[in-house]
Amino acid sequence: MVMVSSDAVGRLRSTLEGVVSEPGQPGYDEAVNIWNGAIARRPALVASCASSGDVAAAFAFAQAEGLEVSVRGGGHNYAGYALTDGGLMIDLTPLRSVTVDPDAARARCGGGTTWADLDAATQEHGLAVPGGFISHTGVAGLTLGGGLGWLSRLAGLSSDNLVGAEVVTPDGRIMRASEAENADLFWALRGGGGNFGVVTEFEFALHRVGPMLQLGLFLFTPADGGALFRFAREFVRDLPDECGVFLAGLSTPPEPFVPADLHFTPAFALAVVGFGDEADHGKLIAPIKASLAPIVELVTPIPYVALQQMFDASAPWGLYAYEKAVYLDELSDGAIDAILEHQPKKMSPLSFVPMFVMGGAYARVDDDATAFGGNRAVGYVVNISATTPDPSTFEAERAWVRDYWSALVPYASGVGSYVNFMTEYEEARVRNAYGPKYERLQQVKATYDPGNVLHLNANIVPEA
Ligand SMILES: Cc1cc2nc3c(=O)[nH]c(=O)nc-3n(C[C@H](O)[C@H](O)[C@H](O)COP(=O)(O)OP(=O)(O)OC[C@H]3O[C@@H](n4cnc5c(N)ncnc54)[C@H](O)[C@@H]3O)c2cc1C
Repeated sequence: MVMVSSDAVGRLRSTLEGVVSEPGQPGYDEAVNIWNGAIARRPALVASCASSGDVAAAFAFAQAEGLEVSVRGGGHNYAGYALTDGGLMIDLTPLRSVTVDPDAARARCGGGTTWADLDAATQEHGLAVPGGFISHTGVAGLTLGGGLGWLSRLAGLSSDNLVGAEVVTPDGRIMRASEAENADLFWALRGGGGNFGVVTEFEFALHRVGPMLQLGLFLFTPADGGALFRFAREFVRDLPDECGVFLAGLSTPPEPFVPADLHFTPAFALAVVGFGDEADHGKLIAPIKASLAPIVELVTPIPYVALQQMFDASAPWGLYAYEKAVYLDELSDGAIDAILEHQPKKMSPLSFVPMFVMGGAYARVDDDATAFGGNRAVGYVVNISATTPDPSTFEAERAWVRDYWSALVPYASGVGSYVNFMTEYEEARVRNAYGPKYERLQQVKATYDPGNVLHLNANIVPEA
């Protein structure tokens, strides 16, 4: 481990507006507490940055002292790359302010903002940025890798809605990225992850959403899984773009809408979120009840903010987590058989398999418009996610993910995966995730981070 003298730490402390902490000092434990409890790395120093100038100073310090750099947005990366072992962590959690301009339909937020922060501020105006399913996730990592959620069919990925960013590059430059300024960087930020610089401010386009939406959530027994998936693959074809659709294999949550004797039992789920009125939504979901026999249903108007927080408790902080994902063009018979065979083999009630139904605005974005590596024509993104509170069961749960994933790969659309749903980032995997875009990303990386200072991520190796 590189040793840093107390004089040097003192100099950094006097330079930064934010707080510098070492193990045992106030602020350190909170800053290094990340979502995935399976990761145990200990930065030598945390620079909790309150401004872009702080980030530039932290970069300069790390390079002068020979310290590895990690960057923490919301701390939800499965691989735990917010943390470096023995290096300097640039912690962006102080940068959480959000400003909304409802007339221009634009929102700006700091690099450490969570989706809960952004949703709360935008919904005051009946507006929203497409985010993820869990509101305690960071805006930064989710957006920079892509960003799938309830609004993907309505308005595309989070990254499709990024219109500008303030970026601090590892050499300390503070620059804007947009279609008009540093367009190569702007292209790369929308999908290429945290490879090019630290984003201290995001600017998003906003969409009119809610505040009330219509939720139709249906749970089915494992025995009805085959009927559900064969129904769903036809049903989703006819749905309008203006709805959010989601399938899942899970254990029933201990929520009031689930009878107590069914809590934690294995189930499959289908959810359809409507953005119009109750009557329109009723027509949309009528075929579900006419064709299938759900054991639980929750059909209700719901505030957008509550929908965004609905699964928060099912993804608590500090547990042992691992995941892998595949893109499927369609739910073929073979894919359905693989799901039905592997879903029951999970042991932890918290492990679950969300299947994002794509299409709509997501599919209409020109593939070359952004660096996002996923195929825009796919029907589904299947995320096999293991989460357990018990370390002794983690290895078995991880094996469940790998076996399930291997069984689905023969039906997948190509070999690539979604970088935000990966836990291992070997170079070949990252290349596959970006496919033909990888080389262009390498060129941008060589322009903004030629020394690969930012390598704790789905790493793009700079072009030689
Ligand atoms: C419970 C849970 C639910 C999720 N749900 C979804 C979902 O619905 N849809 C979806 O698409 N994804 C989802 N994800 C995946 C999520 O997109 C990634 O885990 C993402 O990396 C989280 O971003 P973060 O800022 O919270 O993470 P962090 O661990 O802080 O950062 C992730 C990566 O981004 C880099 N980074 C962070 N902040 C910045 C910044 N400001 N500038 C430059 N680089 C930065 C970090 O160095 C790191 O490499 C979920 C993850 C979890 C754990």
